[in-house]
Amino acid sequence: MTEKTSGKKLKEELSKKFNNAWEALKDGELEQVFEFSESYKDFMDKGKTERECVDEIIKQAKENDFISLDEVMDKGSVNAGDKIYAENKGKAVALFIIGSENIEKGMRIVGSHLDAPRLDLKAMPLYEDGGLALLKTHYYGGIKKYQWVATPLALHGVMTKKNGEKISIVIGEDEKDPVLYISDLLPHLAKDQMAKKMGEGITGEGLNVLIGNIPYKDDEIDEKVKLNILNLLNEKYGIHEEDFTVAEIEIVPAGKSRDVGLDRSMIAAHGHDDRVCSFAAHKAVLEIEKPKTTVVGLFVDKEEVGSMGNTGMESMFFENVVAELLNLQGITSYLGLRRAMSNTKVLSGDVTAGFDPNFPDVLDKRNASFIGKGVTLTKYTGSRGKAGCNDANAEFLGEVRQIFNKNDVSWQVGELGKVDQGGGGTIAYILANKGAEVVDCGTPMLSMHAPIELVSKVDLYMTYKAYKAFYQG
Ligand code: MN
Ligand code: MN
Repeated sequence: MTEKTSGKKLKEELSKKFNNAWEALKDGELEQVFEFSESYKDFMDKGKTERECVDEIIKQAKENDFISLDEVMDKGSVNAGDKIYAENKGKAVALFIIGSENIEKGMRIVGSHLDAPRLDLKAMPLYEDGGLALLKTHYYGGIKKYQWVATPLALHGVMTKKNGEKISIVIGEDEKDPVLYISDLLPHLAKDQMAKKMGEGITGEGLNVLIGNIPYKDDEIDEKVKLNILNLLNEKYGIHEEDFTVAEIEIVPAGKSRDVGLDRSMIAAHGHDDRVCSFAAHKAVLEIEKPKTTVVGLFVDKEEVGSMGNTGMESMFFENVVAELLNLQGITSYLGLRRAMSNTKVLSGDVTAGFDPNFPDVLDKRNASFIGKGVTLTKYTGSRGKAGCNDANAEFLGEVRQIFNKNDVSWQVGELGKVDQGGGGTIAYILANKGAEVVDCGTPMLSMHAPIELVSKVDLYMTYKAYKAFYQG
C-alpha cells in the first residue's frame, strides 16, 4: 500500500503558478537588471524616431565588428561567424550573424518594430491664427488624442533642401531648447467638450502644435508671426516653407526616459512599444558568437500602421537580403530562399498589455500577463474569434518553453484582453505566412500607445534573457 501524497506536495508537483520575476532573480542578477536598464534608457533617449533608432543600432553594431551588406557583396563571400547589417532606407535594419550551417537550413529571428505612435507634420503644416504660429499634424498609429495636449513636445525629423542636401532636425530635447505644445481647453469653458465621448473631446484636426507668438517687424505684411518662424528656421537650418512638403517630421513627447517608483523598478519613456523588444533583441544579437544557425535581429518600421510600404514587414526587403546572402553561399534558386524562410524560427518581439489595477476588467486575470513577472509568450493575438491571428504551433511553443526553462528565463503567458474586448496584432503572421514557426514573445507594459508608456525593468531584462537563450537554441 502506497502512502497518500500530501496535498501540498501534490499541488506543487501538478499546478502551475507564474512566479514574480524579481523574486526569481539569481545572485547578482538584480545589479544586472539595473545596469541593463541604464543602457536601455540611454538608447531610448538617443532614439525617439525609427530613423534615430536605426542609426543607433547600426552605430553599436559597427562597434561590435558588423559590416554592411554592401561591403559583404563587394567582398563576394560570406563565412560562418560573419556579422552583417543590412539597412533599409534609414528606417529599418537587420543584423545577421552567419551560422556554421547554410542559411537554407533556416534562421533564428527576433523580429520587432522601431516605429511608435506619434504625430506627424502635414505637408503644409505652418500657419498663423489668433496671433500664434502653429503646425498642422496628422497622427500616426493608434493614439488617444486627448493624451497629446498640454504637455511638452519635441520635433524630430529629416528634410531635403532644394539643392538635395538632407538635414536632420531635433528641437526640444536639449534642456536649453524650447519645446512645442498643444493647447487644451480650460475646464471653465469645457461644458460641451466634457459632455463628449473621450474619443471626440480632442479631434485630429485639433492637434495643432504651437510654435511661435512674436510677429516679424514689418507693418506692410500679414501673417507676421508665421513669417518670423519661417525666418528663424531659415536662419538656423537654411530651409524654406516648400521644404516642409518633402519632409518627414515627427512630434513626440519632449524629454528623457525616467525611473518610476521609489524602488526605481520601472521606466517611463516614449516608444517602449516596441523599442523595448528591439533593444532587448539588439543587445542579445551583439552577444552571440559563431552560432550554428544564422541569428537575425530584425527591426522594422510601419508596424503601427499595418506593416505596409517598403520599410514595413510586408515589404520584400528582408527576403531580398536573405536571397543576397544565399547567393553568396552558392544558392541562387528561388527554392533556396523559400526553404530558408520555411525552416526559420521566429520570436515576434512585441509588447503586450500587462494587468492594470486601475483597469482590471479588460483582461481575464487567469490569462493576463503581469508587470514584474517576466517576458510574455502570447500564443495568439487577433480579435473576436482569433480573427487575423498567428496561432503558434504547440510543438514550437514546447521548444521555446524548454529553452526558457533551461536558461532560468522568468516567463508568463498573456492574452491581449478578454474575449471580445478588442484585440490587436503584430508582425508575427507575416513571417508565419512564409512558413516560419512564429510566436509572439515580448515585454508586458502599461499605458500602451500613450505618449509616455511604462515597463518594469525586470521584464525588460527577462526579454533580453529570453531572446539570447532563443538565439543560442
Ligand atoms: Mn508593437
Ligand atoms: Mn503598438
